[in-house]
Amino acid sequence: MNLNYKLGIASILLLFGILTNAKAQNTGTIATLLELEDNQYFADRDSAYLDPYYGLKKLIYGNRRFADDKSIRPRQTDADLKSNELGQAPFATIIGCADSRVPNEIIFDQGVGDLFITRTAGQVMAEASYGTIEYATVVLETKLIVVLGHQSCGAVGAAMKLPENPPGHVVTLINAIKPASLRAKAANLSAEDALDYAVRENVIEQVNMLRNLEPVLSRKSASGEVLIVGAVYDLKSGYVNFIEETISSLPRFSN
Ligand SMILES: [Zn+2]
Repeated sequence: MNLNYKLGIASILLLFGILTNAKAQNTGTIATLLELEDNQYFADRDSAYLDPYYGLKKLIYGNRRFADDKSIRPRQTDADLKSNELGQAPFATIIGCADSRVPNEIIFDQGVGDLFITRTAGQVMAEASYGTIEYATVVLETKLIVVLGHQSCGAVGAAMKLPENPPGHVVTLINAIKPASLRAKAANLSAEDALDYAVRENVIEQVNMLRNLEPVLSRKSASGEVLIVGAVYDLKSGYVNFIEETISSLPRFSN
């Protein structure tokens, strides 16, 4: 089956999902490109570390377990903890929001030693964040980086209000999210839709910024050695939905 034909079928299935209001995760083009399997809940840990595309599947299937109330809480036994003493080899780096409702290991149903995580409000990054991410990439050889925004993000909501004098260092967050919030305001949407739009735009902006970050990530992401993608967590359904343009623009799919 050629790719165009597959994408055509995927679009029809996506439309059907929207019309029937089915609880769905990463359907359509994303499911096709990543070759996601229906009703699949597991992906092998070692393969995920070696191949970031497989790592994406592992995150998606783990999140599916969580959202479908089938979490297995892997690698958290005493024996697992003892083996971690020897070192770490996380298969993904997550750059997430500090929001208490988005606990990364829980929503992806991953264990101790699986995810390398940096979290700040609105997942705004600064110099120390870049060093943290580069450390995971260069020293731990983690090949998958996910920028994870979420629905109803307070930091993005605050940036939408464009406050005159935000308190203390909060101004750093507001300024970083401002470009996304301005684009959302210009889109003439309802308040809720505008916030969703800004959350998504903020993630896309952060993904693009990391893809261009010199000297480490720019080279590794351009070559496809490291994947940098964006996703948004839906608080109500528990699903993490990856943003299509951050997947379809990966070197494997865009060349
Ligand atoms: Zn947030």
